[in-house]
Amino acid sequence: MIDFDKLAAYSAAVPRYTSYPTAPEFLDNFSGDDLIRKIEDSNKTNRDISLYFHLPFCRSACYFCGCNVIYTSKEDLKDRYIDYLEKELEICSRHLNTKRIISQLHFGGGTPTFFSAVQLQRVIRSIKKTFLNISKNVEFGIEIDPRFFTPDHMKVFAENGVNRISFGVQDFDPKVQEAVHRIQPLDITEKAVEIARANGIKSINIDLMYGLPCQNIASFEETLRLTLELEPDRVALFNYAHVPWLKKTMRKIDETLLPAPSEKLRMLKAAIETFEGAGLEMIGMDHFAKPDDELNIALKEGRLHRNFQGYTTHGECDLFGFGVTSISEGKDFYLQNIRENGPYEAKIDQGRPPLMRGIELNKDDLLRKKVIMSLMSNFVLRFKEIEREFDIEFRTHFHDDLSALKPLEEDGLCAIDNEGITVGRTGRLLIRNIVMNFDAHLKKNQNRRFSKSI
Ligand code: SF4
Repeated sequence: MIDFDKLAAYSAAVPRYTSYPTAPEFLDNFSGDDLIRKIEDSNKTNRDISLYFHLPFCRSACYFCGCNVIYTSKEDLKDRYIDYLEKELEICSRHLNTKRIISQLHFGGGTPTFFSAVQLQRVIRSIKKTFLNISKNVEFGIEIDPRFFTPDHMKVFAENGVNRISFGVQDFDPKVQEAVHRIQPLDITEKAVEIARANGIKSINIDLMYGLPCQNIASFEETLRLTLELEPDRVALFNYAHVPWLKKTMRKIDETLLPAPSEKLRMLKAAIETFEGAGLEMIGMDHFAKPDDELNIALKEGRLHRNFQGYTTHGECDLFGFGVTSISEGKDFYLQNIRENGPYEAKIDQGRPPLMRGIELNKDDLLRKKVIMSLMSNFVLRFKEIEREFDIEFRTHFHDDLSALKPLEEDGLCAIDNEGITVGRTGRLLIRNIVMNFDAHLKKNQNRRFSKSI
């Protein structure tokens, strides 16, 4: 049973923990040489590789959007962006062993399908030309805005082995769509899902969001009903994080139309009950998936991981990101590309990796990353595993952190015994509040601002 009153009591501004240390801790004093060094180190491990391509263009702003987006309708800008992606691939391939196995490929944005089918074919061809060992079982996922998705796009995807599609919806109510500046009639989404299914895509995800302006429990229940009619394999249900001090477009949202925290909780409750009632199971703090979905199986086997793209079964890969703002993640580093297009291009013109900032994890970071990410993904932590890997006595090493967690344990969010930590149903939704007790950087930098956990 989820205790929804408790959720309200714990709603606080906390990091999302798509990485540890979190992105605000990344440092500016990283250069292309650091990336080259990390790439060359990673070649020695010969781990599989996950590739991420950030395709940042959109026609117009959805006011809730937290992504790094460039608004344009100029075709030549997009062609030019691909020119630079190709140059970035070339620079990277001078150092990365391109015979390593690629087991995951992901296109995110922006709106990847705002690029034409011909342009996307060009991107995929360049990837295949660069990386010589793309696994037969590669997981190839694309984020799609149904408003910019054609049978021509699908033809390119089908020919190139795309096997996961995530459709952005957020809410089906026209009033909500108007308030967030994203008009997307139901039949457009239905048609997009139909095209994907007809072309053999077996994993279809729908993104929803609660906490948007004009949403209320009745309208959201209708969105949930319509979502189930699309028979998604996965649903991602995001809590709208209103951070207008960080995202200019959010300032266009009329704050008086935002639902009250109690209404948001009712929406969350309705979503959990609706999706679980339909046989989907809750993964992590904000995903639902069919029982035979890979994410679900990984969760049951304790193999689920979390990275910048959300939950993944490919946590043992080195992740290399291409394009503006994209993030690379290896065993002991995070590195992020430059955010703005101009400086990104300028760096590439110098023949250098277009790096903006990053962090090299020290021993303590590695230990805490393991603790935080294990709890975030699998909701269980076995002290022995950590002790074996890091040569510590867990309860002694984390004495203060465990003491800070005690009130949450007393409140029933988690159970701590001699074996480890187990997070309960209510605690799962407050997992960010639980793991923040192990975040050493946060303790040093109390003045950081984050979105609310609920
Ligand atoms: S289409 Fe997607 S990426 Fe583009 S503005 Fe809307 S939510 Fe953001």
